[in-house]
Amino acid sequence: MPMKTPQEYIESLRKLKLVVYLFGKRVENVVDDPIIRPSLNAVAMTYALATNPKHEEIMTATSHITGKKINRFTHIHRSVDDLVKKSKMGRVLGSMTGCCFQRCVGMDALNALSMTTYDIDAKHKTEYNKRFLKYLEYVQENDLVCDGAMTDPKGDRSLPPHKQADPDLFLHVVEERKDGIVVRGAKAHQTGAVNSHEVIVMPTISMREEDKDYAVSFAVPSDTNGIMYIIGRQSCDTRKAEECKIDQGNILFGGHEALMVFDNVFVPWERVFMYKEYEFAGQLVEQFASYHRQSYACKVGVGDVLIGATQTIAEYNGTEKASHVKDKIIEMNHLNETLYCGCIACAAEGHREPSGTYYVDPLLANVHKQNVTRFPYEIARIAQDIAGGLLVTLPSEADLRSADVGKWMEKYYAARSDIPMENRMRILRLIENLTLGTAAVGYLTESMHGAGSPQAQRIMISRLVDMKEKQKNAKRLCGITDAGAREG
Ligand code: SF4
Ligand code: FE
Repeated sequence: MPMKTPQEYIESLRKLKLVVYLFGKRVENVVDDPIIRPSLNAVAMTYALATNPKHEEIMTATSHITGKKINRFTHIHRSVDDLVKKSKMGRVLGSMTGCCFQRCVGMDALNALSMTTYDIDAKHKTEYNKRFLKYLEYVQENDLVCDGAMTDPKGDRSLPPHKQADPDLFLHVVEERKDGIVVRGAKAHQTGAVNSHEVIVMPTISMREEDKDYAVSFAVPSDTNGIMYIIGRQSCDTRKAEECKIDQGNILFGGHEALMVFDNVFVPWERVFMYKEYEFAGQLVEQFASYHRQSYACKVGVGDVLIGATQTIAEYNGTEKASHVKDKIIEMNHLNETLYCGCIACAAEGHREPSGTYYVDPLLANVHKQNVTRFPYEIARIAQDIAGGLLVTLPSEADLRSADVGKWMEKYYAARSDIPMENRMRILRLIENLTLGTAAVGYLTESMHGAGSPQAQRIMISRLVDMKEKQKNAKRLCGITDAGAREG
Protein backbone atom coordinates (compact mmCIF):
# COMPACT_ATOMS: atom_id res chain seq x y z
CA MET A 1 0.00 0.00 0.00
CA PRO A 2 1.67 3.26 -1.08
CA MET A 3 0.96 5.23 2.11
CA LYS A 4 3.48 6.48 4.63
CA THR A 5 3.02 6.57 8.38
CA PRO A 6 3.69 9.96 10.02
CA GLN A 7 7.00 8.59 11.30
CA GLU A 8 8.03 7.42 7.82
CA TYR A 9 7.16 10.86 6.50
CA ILE A 10 9.31 12.56 9.12
CA GLU A 11 12.20 10.17 8.45
CA SER A 12 11.89 10.79 4.71
CA LEU A 13 12.32 14.53 5.35
CA ARG A 14 15.50 13.87 7.31
CA LYS A 15 17.07 12.45 4.15
CA LEU A 16 16.57 15.68 2.19
CA LYS A 17 19.47 18.07 1.83
CA LEU A 18 17.53 21.32 1.90
CA VAL A 19 19.27 24.68 1.99
CA VAL A 20 17.20 26.57 4.58
CA TYR A 21 17.81 29.92 6.28
CA LEU A 22 16.05 31.26 9.38
CA PHE A 23 17.07 34.40 11.29
CA GLY A 24 20.10 34.79 9.01
CA LYS A 25 21.54 31.38 9.79
CA ARG A 26 21.58 28.09 7.88
CA VAL A 27 19.31 25.51 9.52
CA GLU A 28 21.20 22.22 9.36
CA ASN A 29 18.50 20.09 10.96
CA VAL A 30 15.16 21.29 9.65
CA VAL A 31 13.16 18.43 11.14
CA ASP A 32 14.11 19.12 14.76
CA ASP A 33 14.25 22.91 14.62
CA PRO A 34 11.83 24.11 17.36
CA ILE A 35 10.42 26.93 15.22
CA ILE A 36 9.86 24.80 12.11
CA ARG A 37 8.83 21.57 13.83
CA PRO A 38 5.21 22.49 14.67
CA SER A 39 4.60 23.06 10.95
CA LEU A 40 6.03 19.65 10.15
CA ASN A 41 3.74 18.15 12.81
CA ALA A 42 0.76 19.71 11.04
CA VAL A 43 1.72 18.08 7.72
CA ALA A 44 2.29 14.79 9.54
CA MET A 45 -1.41 14.89 10.53
CA THR A 46 -2.29 14.45 6.84
CA TYR A 47 -0.52 11.09 7.10
CA ALA A 48 -1.84 10.17 10.54
CA LEU A 49 -5.50 10.72 9.67
CA ALA A 50 -5.19 8.70 6.45
CA THR A 51 -4.46 5.59 8.48
CA ASN A 52 -7.09 6.36 11.11
CA PRO A 53 -10.21 4.22 10.48
CA LYS A 54 -12.44 7.08 11.61
CA HIS A 55 -11.16 9.36 8.87
CA GLU A 56 -9.83 7.10 6.15
CA GLU A 57 -12.90 7.35 3.92
CA ILE A 58 -12.36 11.08 3.60
CA MET A 59 -8.57 11.01 3.76
CA THR A 60 -7.91 8.28 1.19
CA ALA A 61 -8.93 7.55 -2.39
CA THR A 62 -8.35 4.98 -5.13
CA SER A 63 -5.68 5.91 -7.65
CA HIS A 64 -7.06 6.07 -11.18
CA ILE A 65 -3.59 5.07 -12.41
CA THR A 66 -2.76 2.06 -10.25
CA GLY A 67 -6.07 1.21 -8.57
CA LYS A 68 -4.27 1.33 -5.21
CA LYS A 69 -5.43 3.07 -2.06
CA ILE A 70 -3.64 6.41 -1.77
CA ASN A 71 -3.67 9.52 0.38
CA ARG A 72 -6.28 11.94 -1.00
CA PHE A 73 -3.65 14.68 -1.13
CA THR A 74 -2.04 12.80 -4.06
CA HIS A 75 -5.34 11.98 -5.79
CA ILE A 76 -6.82 13.36 -9.01
CA HIS A 77 -10.54 14.00 -8.45
CA ARG A 78 -12.59 11.51 -10.46
CA SER A 79 -16.08 12.44 -9.30
CA VAL A 80 -18.17 15.05 -7.54
CA ASP A 81 -17.94 12.83 -4.49
CA ASP A 82 -14.15 13.19 -4.57
CA LEU A 83 -14.49 16.98 -4.66
CA VAL A 84 -16.92 17.02 -1.74
CA LYS A 85 -14.64 14.75 0.28
CA LYS A 86 -11.75 17.11 -0.42
CA SER A 87 -13.70 19.99 1.18
CA LYS A 88 -14.60 17.84 4.17
CA MET A 89 -10.97 16.77 4.53
CA GLY A 90 -9.90 20.42 4.75
CA ARG A 91 -12.33 21.11 7.57
CA VAL A 92 -11.35 18.01 9.53
CA LEU A 93 -7.64 18.78 9.26
CA GLY A 94 -8.15 22.44 10.12
CA SER A 95 -10.00 21.46 13.28
CA MET A 96 -7.41 18.81 14.19
CA THR A 97 -4.43 21.16 13.80
CA GLY A 98 -5.84 24.66 14.36
CA CYS A 99 -3.52 25.96 11.66
CA CYS A 100 -2.45 25.60 8.04
CA PHE A 101 -1.49 21.97 7.32
CA GLN A 102 0.18 22.97 4.07
CA ARG A 103 -0.38 19.94 1.87
CA CYS A 104 -3.27 21.31 -0.25
CA VAL A 105 -1.13 23.43 -2.57
CA GLY A 106 0.52 20.34 -4.04
CA MET A 107 -2.80 18.51 -4.42
CA ASP A 108 -4.27 21.52 -6.21
CA ALA A 109 -1.24 21.86 -8.49
CA LEU A 110 -1.45 18.16 -9.45
CA ASN A 111 -5.14 18.44 -10.28
CA ALA A 112 -4.75 21.63 -12.30
CA LEU A 113 -1.84 20.13 -14.25
CA SER A 114 -3.83 16.96 -14.98
CA MET A 115 -6.21 19.18 -16.96
CA THR A 116 -3.88 21.76 -18.47
CA THR A 117 -1.29 19.23 -19.73
CA TYR A 118 -4.14 17.33 -21.43
CA ASP A 119 -5.45 20.49 -23.07
CA ILE A 120 -2.00 21.62 -24.26
CA ASP A 121 -1.43 18.20 -25.83
CA ALA A 122 -4.81 18.38 -27.60
CA LYS A 123 -3.76 21.64 -29.25
CA HIS A 124 -0.04 21.17 -29.81
CA LYS A 125 0.32 17.36 -30.14
CA THR A 126 2.84 17.45 -27.27
CA GLU A 127 3.31 14.72 -24.66
CA TYR A 128 2.99 16.66 -21.41
CA ASN A 129 0.07 14.65 -20.05
CA LYS A 130 1.96 11.35 -20.45
CA ARG A 131 4.95 12.86 -18.62
CA PHE A 132 2.68 14.29 -15.97
CA LEU A 133 0.90 10.98 -15.31
CA LYS A 134 4.26 9.23 -14.90
CA TYR A 135 5.26 11.89 -12.38
CA LEU A 136 1.90 11.60 -10.63
CA GLU A 137 2.36 7.85 -10.24
CA TYR A 138 5.75 8.51 -8.61
CA VAL A 139 4.12 10.98 -6.19
CA GLN A 140 1.30 8.56 -5.36
CA GLU A 141 3.53 5.50 -4.97
CA ASN A 142 5.81 7.36 -2.56
CA ASP A 143 3.04 9.35 -0.80
CA LEU A 144 4.93 12.61 -1.27
CA VAL A 145 4.22 16.16 -0.12
CA CYS A 146 4.39 18.58 -3.06
CA ASP A 147 4.75 22.31 -2.73
CA GLY A 148 2.62 24.03 -5.37
CA ALA A 149 4.77 27.03 -6.25
CA MET A 150 2.89 29.72 -8.12
CA THR A 151 3.44 33.23 -6.70
CA ASP A 152 6.36 35.11 -8.28
CA PRO A 153 7.76 38.20 -6.53
CA LYS A 154 6.24 40.23 -9.45
CA GLY A 155 8.33 43.41 -9.05
CA ASP A 156 6.61 46.44 -10.58
CA ARG A 157 2.97 45.33 -10.73
CA SER A 158 2.26 47.62 -13.67
CA LEU A 159 4.72 45.76 -15.91
CA PRO A 160 4.54 42.32 -17.55
CA PRO A 161 7.35 39.81 -16.84
CA HIS A 162 9.55 40.66 -19.85
CA LYS A 163 9.48 44.42 -19.06
CA GLN A 164 10.68 44.14 -15.44
CA ALA A 165 13.96 45.93 -14.63
CA ASP A 166 15.21 42.64 -13.20
CA PRO A 167 14.13 39.74 -15.47
CA ASP A 168 14.25 37.30 -12.54
CA LEU A 169 11.28 38.89 -10.76
CA PHE A 170 9.22 36.27 -12.56
CA LEU A 171 10.68 32.76 -12.76
CA HIS A 172 11.85 32.02 -16.30
CA VAL A 173 13.87 29.75 -18.57
CA VAL A 174 17.46 30.92 -18.99
CA GLU A 175 18.87 28.02 -20.95
CA GLU A 176 17.58 25.21 -23.13
CA ARG A 177 19.69 22.07 -23.22
CA LYS A 178 19.39 18.71 -24.94
CA ASP A 179 18.51 17.03 -21.64
CA GLY A 180 16.36 19.75 -20.10
CA ILE A 181 16.07 23.41 -19.16
CA VAL A 182 17.69 25.76 -16.65
CA VAL A 183 15.42 28.18 -14.76
CA ARG A 184 16.01 31.23 -12.59
CA GLY A 185 13.77 33.33 -10.35
CA ALA A 186 11.90 32.91 -7.09
CA LYS A 187 8.54 31.93 -5.62
CA ALA A 188 7.28 33.89 -2.62
CA HIS A 189 5.01 32.94 0.32
CA GLN A 190 5.61 29.22 -0.21
CA THR A 191 3.41 27.42 2.30
CA GLY A 192 5.02 24.37 3.87
CA ALA A 193 8.00 24.66 1.53
CA VAL A 194 10.59 22.98 3.73
CA ASN A 195 8.19 20.18 4.70
CA SER A 196 7.85 19.15 1.04
CA HIS A 197 9.58 16.43 -0.94
CA GLU A 198 8.79 18.00 -4.29
CA VAL A 199 8.22 21.45 -5.74
CA ILE A 200 5.73 21.91 -8.59
CA VAL A 201 6.29 25.25 -10.30
CA MET A 202 3.58 27.04 -12.28
CA PRO A 203 3.36 30.51 -13.86
CA THR A 204 1.62 33.15 -11.78
CA ILE A 205 -0.33 35.19 -14.39
CA SER A 206 -1.73 35.01 -17.93
CA MET A 207 0.95 35.66 -20.49
CA ARG A 208 1.46 36.92 -24.02
CA GLU A 209 3.99 35.78 -26.61
CA GLU A 210 6.65 38.27 -25.40
CA ASP A 211 6.55 36.49 -22.03
CA LYS A 212 6.85 32.96 -23.36
CA ASP A 213 10.13 32.28 -21.51
CA TYR A 214 8.09 32.73 -18.32
CA ALA A 215 5.35 30.31 -19.37
CA VAL A 216 6.90 27.27 -17.78
CA SER A 217 5.71 24.54 -15.44
CA PHE A 218 7.77 21.69 -14.01
CA ALA A 219 8.49 19.61 -10.92
CA VAL A 220 11.80 19.12 -9.11
CA PRO A 221 12.83 17.47 -5.84
CA SER A 222 12.84 20.09 -3.09
CA ASP A 223 16.56 19.62 -2.44
CA THR A 224 17.62 20.15 -6.06
CA ASN A 225 20.88 22.06 -6.51
CA GLY A 226 20.30 25.80 -6.70
CA ILE A 227 17.10 25.90 -4.60
CA MET A 228 17.27 27.87 -1.34
CA TYR A 229 14.58 28.60 1.28
CA ILE A 230 14.38 31.69 3.48
CA ILE A 231 11.72 31.15 6.17
CA GLY A 232 9.23 33.97 6.80
CA ARG A 233 8.90 35.60 10.23
CA GLN A 234 5.64 35.25 12.08
CA SER A 235 4.33 37.25 14.99
CA CYS A 236 5.39 35.51 18.24
CA ASP A 237 7.46 32.89 16.36
CA THR A 238 10.30 32.82 18.91
CA ARG A 239 7.87 31.66 21.59
CA LYS A 240 8.19 28.25 19.93
CA ALA A 241 11.84 28.18 20.94
CA GLU A 242 11.09 28.99 24.60
CA GLU A 243 11.19 26.34 27.27
CA CYS A 244 7.71 27.21 28.58
CA LYS A 245 5.08 25.98 26.16
CA ILE A 246 1.79 27.58 27.27
CA ASP A 247 2.70 30.92 25.72
CA GLN A 248 2.74 29.24 22.29
CA GLY A 249 -1.04 28.92 22.48
CA ASN A 250 -1.20 25.99 20.07
CA ILE A 251 1.43 23.80 21.69
CA LEU A 252 1.29 21.11 18.98
CA PHE A 253 1.01 22.62 15.51
CA GLY A 254 1.86 25.62 13.33
CA GLY A 255 2.53 26.63 9.76
CA HIS A 256 5.33 28.28 7.83
CA GLU A 257 5.96 30.13 4.61
CA ALA A 258 9.24 30.70 2.81
CA LEU A 259 10.81 32.62 -0.03
CA MET A 260 12.09 29.98 -2.44
CA VAL A 261 15.01 31.05 -4.63
CA PHE A 262 15.81 29.21 -7.88
CA ASP A 263 19.39 30.09 -8.73
CA ASN A 264 19.95 28.42 -12.13
CA VAL A 265 18.11 25.19 -11.41
CA PHE A 266 18.29 22.35 -13.94
CA VAL A 267 15.04 20.54 -14.83
CA PRO A 268 15.14 17.39 -17.00
CA TRP A 269 12.65 17.31 -19.88
CA GLU A 270 10.63 14.44 -18.36
CA ARG A 271 9.64 16.80 -15.54
CA VAL A 272 8.65 19.75 -17.71
CA PHE A 273 4.86 20.09 -18.07
CA MET A 274 4.58 23.39 -19.92
CA TYR A 275 7.27 25.01 -22.04
CA LYS A 276 6.51 28.34 -23.66
CA GLU A 277 2.84 27.49 -24.47
CA TYR A 278 2.05 30.96 -23.14
CA GLU A 279 -1.61 30.82 -24.14
CA PHE A 280 -2.17 28.12 -21.47
CA ALA A 281 -0.51 30.02 -18.60
CA GLY A 282 -3.77 31.81 -17.71
CA GLN A 283 -5.75 28.56 -17.76
CA LEU A 284 -3.31 26.83 -15.42
CA VAL A 285 -3.39 29.80 -13.02
CA GLU A 286 -7.17 29.91 -13.07
CA GLN A 287 -7.64 26.18 -12.53
CA PHE A 288 -5.08 26.01 -9.74
CA ALA A 289 -6.59 29.09 -8.13
CA SER A 290 -10.14 27.71 -8.23
CA TYR A 291 -9.07 24.44 -6.65
CA HIS A 292 -7.04 26.29 -4.05
CA ARG A 293 -9.91 28.63 -3.26
CA GLN A 294 -12.01 25.53 -2.56
CA SER A 295 -9.19 24.32 -0.29
CA TYR A 296 -9.92 27.21 2.02
CA ALA A 297 -12.30 24.75 3.65
CA CYS A 298 -9.35 24.58 6.04
CA LYS A 299 -10.41 27.89 7.60
CA VAL A 300 -13.77 26.41 8.57
CA GLY A 301 -11.91 23.84 10.66
CA VAL A 302 -9.69 26.49 12.23
CA GLY A 303 -12.85 28.51 12.87
CA ASP A 304 -14.28 25.49 14.70
CA VAL A 305 -11.27 25.59 17.03
CA LEU A 306 -11.63 29.32 17.65
CA ILE A 307 -15.36 28.99 18.36
CA GLY A 308 -14.64 26.13 20.77
CA ALA A 309 -11.96 28.20 22.49
CA THR A 310 -14.31 31.21 22.75
CA GLN A 311 -17.14 29.17 24.27
CA THR A 312 -14.60 27.73 26.74
CA ILE A 313 -13.25 31.09 27.89
CA ALA A 314 -16.83 32.33 28.32
CA GLU A 315 -17.52 29.32 30.55
CA TYR A 316 -14.27 29.82 32.48
CA ASN A 317 -15.12 33.48 33.01
CA GLY A 318 -18.72 32.69 33.98
CA THR A 319 -20.18 34.78 31.14
CA GLU A 320 -21.52 31.99 28.94
CA LYS A 321 -25.14 32.49 30.00
CA ALA A 322 -25.23 36.21 29.21
CA SER A 323 -27.63 36.62 26.30
CA HIS A 324 -25.24 38.78 24.26
CA VAL A 325 -22.47 36.20 24.65
CA LYS A 326 -24.79 33.42 23.51
CA ASP A 327 -25.83 35.52 20.54
CA LYS A 328 -22.24 36.29 19.60
CA ILE A 329 -21.38 32.60 19.67
CA ILE A 330 -24.37 31.96 17.37
CA GLU A 331 -23.02 34.65 15.05
CA MET A 332 -19.60 32.95 14.98
CA ASN A 333 -21.21 29.64 14.10
CA HIS A 334 -23.43 31.24 11.49
CA LEU A 335 -20.44 32.81 9.76
CA ASN A 336 -18.36 29.65 9.97
CA GLU A 337 -21.10 27.39 8.62
CA THR A 338 -21.75 29.91 5.82
CA LEU A 339 -18.12 29.43 4.85
CA TYR A 340 -18.68 25.69 4.88
CA CYS A 341 -21.65 26.08 2.52
CA GLY A 342 -19.36 27.71 -0.05
CA CYS A 343 -16.68 25.05 -0.13
CA ILE A 344 -19.26 22.25 -0.25
CA ALA A 345 -21.30 24.03 -2.94
CA CYS A 346 -18.40 24.59 -5.34
CA ALA A 347 -17.54 20.89 -4.99
CA ALA A 348 -21.13 19.65 -5.36
CA GLU A 349 -21.48 21.75 -8.53
CA GLY A 350 -18.24 20.35 -9.97
CA HIS A 351 -18.04 18.83 -13.44
CA ARG A 352 -15.91 16.52 -15.57
CA GLU A 353 -13.29 18.11 -17.83
CA PRO A 354 -12.10 16.46 -21.10
CA SER A 355 -9.08 14.98 -19.27
CA GLY A 356 -11.45 13.05 -16.96
CA THR A 357 -10.53 15.21 -13.96
CA TYR A 358 -13.41 16.72 -11.98
CA TYR A 359 -13.20 20.48 -11.59
CA VAL A 360 -14.98 22.64 -9.01
CA ASP A 361 -17.49 25.28 -10.07
CA PRO A 362 -15.06 28.19 -10.44
CA LEU A 363 -17.63 30.92 -9.69
CA LEU A 364 -18.66 29.32 -6.41
CA ALA A 365 -15.03 28.56 -5.48
CA ASN A 366 -14.20 32.24 -5.94
CA VAL A 367 -17.24 33.32 -3.94
CA HIS A 368 -16.18 30.93 -1.16
CA LYS A 369 -12.67 32.37 -1.00
CA GLN A 370 -14.04 35.92 -1.09
CA ASN A 371 -16.10 35.06 2.01
CA VAL A 372 -12.94 33.66 3.59
CA THR A 373 -11.26 37.07 3.18
CA ARG A 374 -13.96 38.51 5.46
CA PHE A 375 -15.69 36.13 7.87
CA PRO A 376 -12.64 34.90 9.83
CA TYR A 377 -11.88 38.55 10.70
CA GLU A 378 -15.37 38.96 12.14
CA ILE A 379 -15.15 35.60 13.93
CA ALA A 380 -11.79 36.68 15.40
CA ARG A 381 -13.24 40.06 16.43
CA ILE A 382 -16.03 38.37 18.35
CA ALA A 383 -13.57 35.93 19.94
CA GLN A 384 -11.49 38.85 21.22
CA ASP A 385 -14.64 40.61 22.42
CA ILE A 386 -15.71 37.62 24.51
CA ALA A 387 -12.19 36.71 25.69
CA GLY A 388 -11.55 40.17 27.17
CA GLY A 389 -8.43 42.31 27.38
CA LEU A 390 -6.50 39.74 29.40
CA LEU A 391 -5.81 38.20 26.02
CA VAL A 392 -3.07 40.77 25.53
CA THR A 393 -2.10 41.76 29.08
CA LEU A 394 -1.48 38.30 30.53
CA PRO A 395 2.07 37.79 31.88
CA SER A 396 4.15 34.86 30.72
CA GLU A 397 4.16 31.23 31.78
CA ALA A 398 7.61 31.90 33.27
CA ASP A 399 5.94 34.34 35.67
CA LEU A 400 3.32 31.76 36.53
CA ARG A 401 6.11 29.30 37.40
CA SER A 402 8.07 31.96 39.35
CA ALA A 403 8.45 31.35 43.07
CA ASP A 404 8.19 35.11 43.61
CA VAL A 405 5.15 36.15 41.57
CA GLY A 406 3.40 32.95 40.48
CA LYS A 407 1.14 33.02 43.54
CA TRP A 408 -0.11 36.49 42.61
CA MET A 409 -1.01 35.34 39.12
CA GLU A 410 -2.83 32.32 40.57
CA LYS A 411 -4.70 34.61 42.98
CA TYR A 412 -5.60 37.52 40.74
CA TYR A 413 -6.13 35.75 37.41
CA ALA A 414 -8.48 33.19 38.89
CA ALA A 415 -12.03 33.42 37.57
CA ARG A 416 -14.48 30.59 38.26
CA SER A 417 -13.23 28.93 41.46
CA ASP A 418 -13.57 25.38 40.05
CA ILE A 419 -11.39 26.11 37.01
CA PRO A 420 -7.59 25.99 37.43
CA MET A 421 -6.14 29.38 36.57
CA GLU A 422 -3.61 27.64 34.30
CA ASN A 423 -6.45 26.35 32.09
CA ARG A 424 -7.77 29.87 31.73
CA MET A 425 -4.29 30.96 30.70
CA ARG A 426 -3.99 28.12 28.17
CA ILE A 427 -7.27 28.91 26.40
CA LEU A 428 -6.50 32.64 26.32
CA ARG A 429 -3.12 31.90 24.76
CA LEU A 430 -4.80 29.72 22.16
CA ILE A 431 -7.18 32.57 21.25
CA GLU A 432 -4.19 34.92 21.13
CA ASN A 433 -2.37 32.48 18.88
CA LEU A 434 -5.35 32.23 16.50
CA THR A 435 -6.15 35.94 16.32
CA LEU A 436 -2.79 37.66 16.88
CA GLY A 437 0.03 35.11 16.96
CA THR A 438 1.58 32.54 14.62
CA ALA A 439 -1.75 30.89 13.74
CA ALA A 440 -3.22 34.30 12.87
CA VAL A 441 -0.90 34.18 9.86
CA GLY A 442 -2.96 31.23 8.66
CA TYR A 443 -6.36 32.20 10.01
CA LEU A 444 -6.36 35.90 9.12
CA THR A 445 -3.72 37.23 6.72
CA GLU A 446 -3.56 33.96 4.78
CA SER A 447 -7.36 34.04 4.58
CA MET A 448 -6.97 37.47 3.01
CA HIS A 449 -4.12 36.81 0.58
CA GLY A 450 -3.69 33.06 0.23
CA ALA A 451 -4.94 31.58 -3.08
CA GLY A 452 -5.05 35.16 -4.37
CA SER A 453 -5.98 38.46 -2.78
CA PRO A 454 -9.66 39.55 -2.59
CA GLN A 455 -9.49 41.53 -5.82
CA ALA A 456 -8.39 38.42 -7.73
CA GLN A 457 -11.63 36.71 -6.70
CA ARG A 458 -13.72 39.76 -7.55
CA ILE A 459 -12.29 39.85 -11.06
CA MET A 460 -13.16 36.17 -11.48
CA ILE A 461 -16.65 36.71 -10.07
CA SER A 462 -17.29 39.53 -12.53
CA ARG A 463 -16.07 37.35 -15.40
CA LEU A 464 -17.99 34.24 -14.42
CA VAL A 465 -21.47 35.54 -13.57
CA ASP A 466 -24.00 35.34 -16.40
CA MET A 467 -25.07 38.98 -16.33
CA LYS A 468 -26.92 38.85 -19.64
CA GLU A 469 -29.16 36.07 -18.29
CA LYS A 470 -29.91 38.07 -15.14
CA GLN A 471 -30.81 41.14 -17.22
CA LYS A 472 -32.92 39.08 -19.58
CA ASN A 473 -35.04 37.83 -16.69
CA ALA A 474 -35.36 41.25 -15.11
CA LYS A 475 -36.50 42.78 -18.38
CA ARG A 476 -38.87 39.91 -19.19
CA LEU A 477 -40.62 40.30 -15.84
CA CYS A 478 -41.30 43.99 -16.29
CA GLY A 479 -42.16 43.84 -19.94
CA ILE A 480 -39.09 45.45 -21.52
CA THR A 481 -38.31 44.34 -25.06
CA ASP A 482 -34.91 45.27 -26.37
CA ALA A 483 -36.05 45.90 -29.93
CA GLY A 484 -34.64 49.28 -30.98
CA ALA A 485 -33.15 49.89 -27.56
CA ARG A 486 -29.51 50.98 -27.12
CA GLU A 487 -27.35 48.04 -25.98
CA GLY A 488 -26.04 48.59 -22.45
FE1 SF4 B 1 -4.17 24.23 2.74
FE2 SF4 B 1 -5.47 26.14 3.95
FE3 SF4 B 1 -2.87 25.94 4.30
FE4 SF4 B 1 -3.78 26.79 1.97
S1 SF4 B 1 -4.03 27.81 3.94
S2 SF4 B 1 -2.23 25.19 2.28
S3 SF4 B 1 -5.67 25.63 1.78
S4 SF4 B 1 -4.39 24.46 4.94
FE1 FE C 1 -2.50 29.07 1.33
